Amino acid sequence: MLKKQNYPVSTKMLIDGELVASESGAELVSTDPADESELGRVPAATAADVNRAVAAAERAQPEWARIGPVARGAYLRKLAAALRERADEVLELEVRDTGNTITKMAADVGQAADTMDYFAGLATELKGETIPASSEHLHLTLREPYGVVGRIVPFNHPIKFAAHAISAPLIAGNTVVVKPPEQSPLSAALLGELCRDILPAGCVNILTGNGMPTGDAIVRHPSIKRIAFTGSVPTGRAIQMAAAESGVKNVTLELGGKNPLIAFPDMDPAKIAEVGLAGMNFSWQGQSCGSTSRLLLHEDIHDEVVERLLEAVARIRVGHPLDPASQMGPLNSRRHYERVQSMIAKGNEEGARLRFGGQRPPGKEFERGYWLQPTVFSDVEAGMTLAREEIFGPVLSIFKWRTEEEAFDLANSTEYGLTASIWTNDIKTAMRAVRRVKSGYIWVNGASGHFYGTPFGGMKSSGIGREEGLGELLSYTETKTVHFMGAFA
Ligand code: NAD
Repeated sequence: MLKKQNYPVSTKMLIDGELVASESGAELVSTDPADESELGRVPAATAADVNRAVAAAERAQPEWARIGPVARGAYLRKLAAALRERADEVLELEVRDTGNTITKMAADVGQAADTMDYFAGLATELKGETIPASSEHLHLTLREPYGVVGRIVPFNHPIKFAAHAISAPLIAGNTVVVKPPEQSPLSAALLGELCRDILPAGCVNILTGNGMPTGDAIVRHPSIKRIAFTGSVPTGRAIQMAAAESGVKNVTLELGGKNPLIAFPDMDPAKIAEVGLAGMNFSWQGQSCGSTSRLLLHEDIHDEVVERLLEAVARIRVGHPLDPASQMGPLNSRRHYERVQSMIAKGNEEGARLRFGGQRPPGKEFERGYWLQPTVFSDVEAGMTLAREEIFGPVLSIFKWRTEEEAFDLANSTEYGLTASIWTNDIKTAMRAVRRVKSGYIWVNGASGHFYGTPFGGMKSSGIGREEGLGELLSYTETKTVHFMGAFA
C-alpha cells in the first residue's frame, strides 16, 4: 500500500486481478513538477502485457455480463466507497504528481467516486425497445456489451478520469483495459489495488506506460472493438488511424478546446473580470480542456475588464501545490512546460500584447520545477497562434469585438468546438449566441461547471461522442434487433 509522504514510491499495474511489474521489467519515472525530483516509478507495459491484460478481460467478461446490471452496480458502489476511504492518500499523490493545487483537487477524488455511483445508479437503464413495426410480429431490441473496452486518459485529472473510464463500460457489462497518463501515473496503482480487492479478476486491467507502445497496442488489439480516448487532437487522430488500420472499431474522442468566453456590453465589467479568471482554471495551471482561454470582450467594456483582470491576476498566489494557500502550482511536465513557453514566445513575436506574466516567478522556491506566472495577452487577433492553437496552460488571450457578427466569427474561428461561455442579461442575445457558437457544451452566465446527466463533448475537431450522461452508458452497448415472427398472429 502507498503511504503518505513515503517517496519515491514504486508501484505495480493491475493485470488479471494481480498487481504486477511489466514482463520486460521496464519502468517509467514520474517526476515531481514542483522540484523535478523523482516521485515514483511505474511499470512500462509492453505489447505482451497488453495481450495478457486483454486475454484476462476476455475471460472475465461473460460472467461479468451474466451477473446483471444490479450486481454490477453494487460492485461499483463498493469501489466508490473504498475510494472515498482512501481519499486523503489519493489526494496527496494526485497533487504531487499533477502539480494541481490541493484546494481544487480535493474535489477530484470525491468526483471520481461520485461518477462510479452515478453510473451504478443508471444500471437498469440499459433498456431496449419494442417497436410496432407490424401487427402480427414482435419486434424488439436488446443492448449488448461490446466485450473488452480500451480507454486511454490524459494527465490533468488522472484519478477522476481513470474512475470515469471504468464506470460506464463496466455497468454496461464490458470489461476494461485502461491506460493512465505517463506524466502522472501514480494514483492508478491505488485504483488498481482497490479493483484487485473488490472486483472479480480481469474485469479491470490498468496498464501504465507511454502512448507508444502501450496505448497504441491497446488501440490495435484485435479483441478490442470499442475505444474511448481523452486527450489531444493529434493523438486522437493517430488513434482513429490506428483503429482503422487494425479493424472495424468504434472510437469516441474527447479532445482539446480553445474555448471562447463572450462578454456582451450589458455585463458588469467587474463580474466579467472575475469570471474571466475563474474560467481559466489557474488553480490547475489552465490545464483543463474546458478552460475559457479566449476572452472575447465587447469594446464598451474591454478596457475596464482588462484593467480589473490584470489587478486580480497579479494577486494569484503561485506556490507549492500541497499548500492550501496556493492558487496556482507548476505545469505538469518539462515537455509541456517548454511547449507552453514556446506558445508565449510566438504570442510576443506575432504582435499580441503581453500584459502579465510569461516568466518563471521570482524566488528561490521556483528555481527548479516547471513554474510559470499566470500569463495574460491582450490585443490578440484571429490568425495569431494564440488565437488558434490550444495551449492547455495558464495563458489567457483577450480579444476586442464591436459587432455581434464579429464576436460569433471570432468564437468559431478555430478548429475546436468544445465549450463556450456566454455572458449577457438579454435572453434573446443569449439564445442567438447559443445557436451561432459551434461548441458542444455551452454555459450562459456561467463557466467551468459539469453536471451529471448532461452530455459533455466536442464539436468540430474537439471530438466525437458525448460523455457524462445516459448516452455514454449506452455507447458501450451494441443494439441487437430481434423479430419474433408471428408472435401475435
Ligand atoms: P495526449 O494526447 O498527449 O495524451 C493522452 C493519452 O494518450 C496519454 O495517456 C498518452 O500516453 C496516450 N497516447 C499518446 N499517444 C498515443 C498513441 N499513439 N496511441 C494511444 N495512446 C496514446 O494528451 P495530454 O497531453 O495527456 O492531455 C492534454 C490534452 O487532453 C489536451 O488537448 C486537453 O484538451 C485534452 N483533454 C480533453 C478532455 C475532454 O474531455 N475533452 C479532458 C481532459 C483533457
